[in-house]
Amino acid sequence: MIHDLHSHTTFSDGALTPQELISLAIEKNVDVLAITDHDTLDAYREIPASHDKIRLVPGIELSSQWENNGIHIIGLNFDPDSDAIQNAAKVQTDARMARARIIGDVLAKHGIEGAFEGARELSIGAYIGRPHFARYLANTGRVNSIQAAFKKYLGAGKSGDVKQHWAELPRVIQWIRDANGIAVLAHPLKYKLTRTRLKRLLDSFQQAGGQGMEVVSGRQLPQQTNDMAALCEQRNLLASCGSDFHQSRNHWAEPGEFPSLPGNVTPVWERF
Ligand code: AMP
Ligand code: MN
Ligand code: MN
Ligand code: MN
Repeated sequence: MIHDLHSHTTFSDGALTPQELISLAIEKNVDVLAITDHDTLDAYREIPASHDKIRLVPGIELSSQWENNGIHIIGLNFDPDSDAIQNAAKVQTDARMARARIIGDVLAKHGIEGAFEGARELSIGAYIGRPHFARYLANTGRVNSIQAAFKKYLGAGKSGDVKQHWAELPRVIQWIRDANGIAVLAHPLKYKLTRTRLKRLLDSFQQAGGQGMEVVSGRQLPQQTNDMAALCEQRNLLASCGSDFHQSRNHWAEPGEFPSLPGNVTPVWERF
């Protein structure tokens, strides 16, 4: 059985519509799929709750802040109609818009005018994020590529990496728990934290009621899988895995294309 519990659609920064993503996942033999758009549940408005060729599990990727780091928390198997998760999406959507204005102001200080309006035109639905700013910068010739936009203006530590608007980590975990979902720390290796800080993040995450971590996120080395599995097992966390699929270009893994979970961890789907 292939479980892909992390993926994106056009309702955040993915290239495929929910229906297109589901079709591709079926083609790639995914058995269980969670669509986890950034801070929005809008994809779920377009898809039936059940499907005869694939099992769909409700999911979302919520942005949070922890000690001045932007940390992503995946919510899985929650009640999508609950006030808790609906309210979470609303709070995050408002935060995204306020943050987008600030990113626009930051870019204006670099002499780049109209970036907020430009990014907003490129966004559809509730999600407006750094990928839209990156596209605006590339489209207007300010940078040569999306990658360059992140490297120069938007990536971790750059002035356009505005994270002060996100809810604090414990609040985000509570939203998921209140919706009867499972809170999973997304891609622990992507934050470039020292080992000591990663352990402190996991301490904070578990103290706040976080239940799982991604042991596998897209393509990764066997050594990374074993390392994350050991951390997961030591802490009695549930193990999750997913492609974090955005599109079939660049560095993203295809749906279902990632190493399987090692045998020493408890898969999160045992609690579904
Ligand atoms: P935001 O949700 O607005 O903070 O934007 C973060 C999103 O930008 C991530 O989910 C990635 O999809 C994308 N992203 C982050 N860093 C890069 C990068 N260096 N190159 C391309 N896309 C990136
Ligand atoms: Mn993304
Ligand atoms: Mn993420
Ligand atoms: Mn993601």
